[in-house]
Order: sequence, then structure tokens, then C-alpha cells
Amino acid sequence: MAVLENLTSQQAIDLENKHGAHNYHPLPVVLSRGEGVYVWDVEGKKYYDFLSAYSAVNQGHCHPKIIGAMMHQAQTLTLTSRAFYNDMLGTYEEYVTSMFGFDKLLPMNTGAEAVETALKICRRWAYQKKGIPENQAKIIVCENNFHGRTTTIISFSNDPVAKKDYGPYTEGFIKIEYDNLQALEHTLESHSDIAGFLVEPIQGEAGVYVPSEGYLTAAKALCEKHNVLFIADEVQTGIARTGKLLAVDHEDVKPDILVLGKALSGGAYPVSAVLANDPIMEVITPGSHGSTFGGNPVAAAVGIAALEVVKEEQLAENAMELGQVFREELNKFIPSCDLVQSVRGKGLLNAIVINDTEDSSTAWDICMALRDNGLLAKPTHGNIIRFAPPLVMNHEQLLDCVSIIIKTLREFEK
Ligand SMILES: *Cc1c(COP(=O)(O)O)cnc(C)c1O
Repeated sequence: MAVLENLTSQQAIDLENKHGAHNYHPLPVVLSRGEGVYVWDVEGKKYYDFLSAYSAVNQGHCHPKIIGAMMHQAQTLTLTSRAFYNDMLGTYEEYVTSMFGFDKLLPMNTGAEAVETALKICRRWAYQKKGIPENQAKIIVCENNFHGRTTTIISFSNDPVAKKDYGPYTEGFIKIEYDNLQALEHTLESHSDIAGFLVEPIQGEAGVYVPSEGYLTAAKALCEKHNVLFIADEVQTGIARTGKLLAVDHEDVKPDILVLGKALSGGAYPVSAVLANDPIMEVITPGSHGSTFGGNPVAAAVGIAALEVVKEEQLAENAMELGQVFREELNKFIPSCDLVQSVRGKGLLNAIVINDTEDSSTAWDICMALRDNGLLAKPTHGNIIRFAPPLVMNHEQLLDCVSIIIKTLREFEK
């Protein structure tokens, strides 16, 4: 088969199955084009994207401003490595640090790399600033966390699918229940060697678990009291997804270390970052950490454009408004529907819980029917379906999507 020949969906799926490692179980739809809130499959069928590449495409598919910046930079200079300076990185770092209110940024590429970076910074800070004895630093994490796929990160996952047979695992993590302040307080009080607390402000992958109001504020205060760094993983919740620029902004909490990824590039390019103030970031010294592609000129140009879109198009405000409408509309419907237990979320990061056992195929079957009805979503953890459209959606489109979702759920009632 000629490489540039147009494939049918089935041919594309067969090729992936035959030649690709089977590390995903995709919904059977083969996409070949995207624009704004829409994607098209290779046969030309149009869909609403209700996943946004796990909240990477908050700014919508192929946003002209982001793609324009990327094309211009791609034709000018793509990669120097950090062996030399480039004329984009400093501008980008100034832009992002002033937007999020931190002294310094450390650029990486993927979310997992940025989380790894945050863990390294936190451990160094523990030894060099807090005075924890060498190799003793512990980091508190939460049950049902998702922070990425590297060996260290899966070491403190409790998802057997992500973890099994990848040992030996990295030590130095203490797992506590999410949204449980007593557990955090108890752990902080009973250990003297805690360096940090790593937390998702809303647990996205686990199924969009929103913690109790005040949890983040109180957790941050406990960390401060015990001289422990509060590390917010906002890779999925950040960049306007939950109706504020950051999910911690709902409680006006300022993390000691902030981890960003995904929508930092609007889905155009892998761009991630760790932000912190000088007393923390200064533990990173030349040669002690790095990445060949981290902070490259294309990433810098794309990152600035992606954040400008968030401000110019008021995506946080839009996510806040549309999220309220979405949950209101579904809450009107749910009492008349045995199939759906509840809807929950913040801004445009939402999920419905299906009334069935975790190992049933109902959520998957609903996603297949949603696909047939022109809307793409994916189950997360069994019986939960996450709904996270691009934030450039308008009111009319959202109501159209709500009616597709309700119509589809009704089909399952019979
Ligand atoms: C997606 C995600 C990551 C990992 O990002 P990758 O770019 O896939 O490595 C880390 N943390 C959270 C909260 C995420 O949602």
C-alpha cells in the first residue's frame, strides 16, 4: 500500500493493531481532521470532541493563532538544545511566570516529565533547604492518583493495570486517602522526613473526583505548618479547564510547585513546565536536570500563543458558564433516568456515573452509541464517562451536545 494513499477506518485500525504496541484500547473511530470543537473521521463523518485529548485541546483543534505561531517558528528555528541560548525561551519564561505568578519556570515536554521534575526539585529542596538526611525524603501522594507513566510515577499508583509487573518500584512515597485532611495531618505529624505533598486539585483520570470545598486551602495550610512543599499537578485541571485559569484558583491557593502540561500548547505540541519561586527553584543547578527538547523555540512560541488564546477568548469564563449549564441540564434529566447515577465536575471537566458495576461494558457501549450519534467521549475507570469538550464551545453547541447525550442515554433505557 502506498504510504500516502487514503485509508479507510478499518485499514487504519488494522495497521495500528498489526504494527503498533497494544498499550491503548481506543474507541474505534479514525480521525483525520479537526477544527475548533469538531473532528472528522476518514469517511468524512463529523463529531463533537468531548475528550479534547484529555484536556490538551482546550483552545480547540488547530487553533489558527497557535498553528500560525508554530508554523512561523518551525520555519525559523526549531531546536538548539539548551547547550546554547535561543531567542524564544526567555520571552516565554517571562510570559508564563508573570501570568501564573512565580519567579521561575523549568521547561519540559510531557506531563510525566514535569511531574518527575517537580519530585526531583522537591527532594533536592528537602535535603538542601529543609535538612532532611540524605535519601530519607518522603513525598505524600493520594490514592487513585494519576500523574503519568514513568517508572517512579507508577511506583506510587494504586492502579494495578498501570503498575503490575513493572517493579522494582521507586521508594519514598506515602499514600493517603484523597480529600481526607485527617489523613494528611496525621501523616505530617507522625513523620519528620516529609518533603512534599503531591496532589491533583481534581482527580481527573480517577473519574473527575472534586474534593470537598476547603480541602485544598486546609491542605496547603497543613503543608505550610510542617514546612512541606504543596505540589499541584494541574496538567489536566489547569489552563481554564475548570472555569478558572488554575483549579487551585477556586480556593485562592498558591502551590509551592505548579505542574503544567497538556493545554499549555493547546494540543499542538508536547509542552510542559514546572513553576516555583526562587528559594525552591534555585536548588536546580547547571547539569543537575535537563531535556534535549525542553524549552525549544517551537514549544516557546506555541506556549505563548496557546496562553494568549486562553486570555483573549476568555476560556476560563466560558468554561465556568457552560459547565454550569451542562450540569444543570443533565441534573434535570437524571431523575427520569435509571441509567445515570449522577453528574459531577467543575467548569468543563465533568463526568457522569453510570448505574452499573465497574466491570460492566455499559459505559463503553454508551460511548459507542454517542459516537454513532456524533459525539466522542471515553469511559474512565469502568462505569464513569468523562465529558471535557474544547473550551471554545459556544452555548448553542453545548445545548446540541446535551441533547445528543440525553437522546443516547434514552436509547439505553429501553
Ligand atoms: C495527563 C496527565 C499527566 C501526564 O501527562 P503526559 O503528557 O501524558 O505525560 C500527569 N498528570 C495529570 C494530572 C494528567 O492528567
